[in-house]
Amino acid sequence: MLPTLETLEEALGGLEGRRILLRADFNVPLDDNGQITDDFRIRAALPTIRWLTGRSASVVACSHLGRPKGQADHRYSMTAVRERLTQLAEGVELLENLRFDPGEVANDAHFVGRLVEGCDGYVNDAFGASHRAHASVVGPPALLPSAAGRLLAKEVEVLSALRQQPKRPFVAVLGGAKVSDKLGVIEALVEIADEVLIGGGMCFTFLAAQGHSVGESLLQADQIDACAKLLDAGAPIRLPSDIVALTPSETVIQAGLNLEPDWRGLDIGPGTAAEFGDLISQARTVLWNGPMGLFEDARFAAGTKVVAQALSKSRAYTVVGGGDSAAAAREFGLVADMDHVSTGGGASLELLQHGDLVGIQALRESTHTGAGQHG
Ligand code: ADP
Ligand code: MG
Repeated sequence: MLPTLETLEEALGGLEGRRILLRADFNVPLDDNGQITDDFRIRAALPTIRWLTGRSASVVACSHLGRPKGQADHRYSMTAVRERLTQLAEGVELLENLRFDPGEVANDAHFVGRLVEGCDGYVNDAFGASHRAHASVVGPPALLPSAAGRLLAKEVEVLSALRQQPKRPFVAVLGGAKVSDKLGVIEALVEIADEVLIGGGMCFTFLAAQGHSVGESLLQADQIDACAKLLDAGAPIRLPSDIVALTPSETVIQAGLNLEPDWRGLDIGPGTAAEFGDLISQARTVLWNGPMGLFEDARFAAGTKVVAQALSKSRAYTVVGGGDSAAAAREFGLVADMDHVSTGGGASLELLQHGDLVGIQALRESTHTGAGQHG
């Protein structure tokens, strides 16, 4: 069982005046001027923060931001996040970027010691970081009474249910750039889902495995064998039947599956989009991860939009995972129509694939439940 905020409150004999270390995922997108372009990850932690401050706990939040290489780097300072956090929840302390210290990624015991110093309890609400065995994720539960925050608990509940008891038909729609990023989750999903629809850049490695010529499209030649193996095994995978491609003279062409050598496939075709949309509308559970094309370019956004709209209209239980797919859904204004939009890209894929994450395991195994041990 994942310990809840309530069990933490009980373990500490109340939270008033208690200092709680909160690992959040405030890894927000920033523009070139260091301004936050989307604060959804900060807002996603508010239910947990407000629950804690509502019980008069003093909250010390911490997060990583970007990929500073274990040293202070002003481009990744938490200043903008701190300002936004203060606007949304007063009186919450926020530590500097965890990854300014090499001890975070190295899961160094001294760094863990410094993080927990003076704290009475620990809450992990950083779903998007919980697949990483980093100091702030796996260290504190061994030392402090610990709990999962509301966001983490919800993510685990939704994604575990997809694995364990999906309403059928269960349709998974997968896209994105690299097949190597998602082959593991595809292998897991073909065992669980009734249909796995594949678009995005990664469909071309599958199409190449079927002997189609993919031109200049994204192709991971070293993954062709793995894709062929899945297809040969009769996995319930559906590939596109048409493609939108770009020629060297910048002409956009609706093509079949065999592209000229200098064409680049950048979206699923309208026939495929309609077919995927139909399957989504007939489903009772839909998981969508990864855009169907280069949706950042309006010429190649149609496939992703049709899929996102089909999810939004579907009576199915709809789950969106993946940073770019969630961004696409937000851009199309369709987030409110989805049942769950995961805040974690890599973490949601790993949880779907393995059913567990190191950060969740650390909370479950936290042995510090007795009040009076600390503080
Ligand atoms: P997510 O973050 O949702 O998991 P990914 O990170 O795997 O998705 O992939 C998203 C990226 O894949 C987007 O930037 C999108 O433009 C790109 N992409 C999708 N289809 C193609 C394609 N056919 N060719 C090139 N890039 C593509
Ligand atoms: Mg991505």
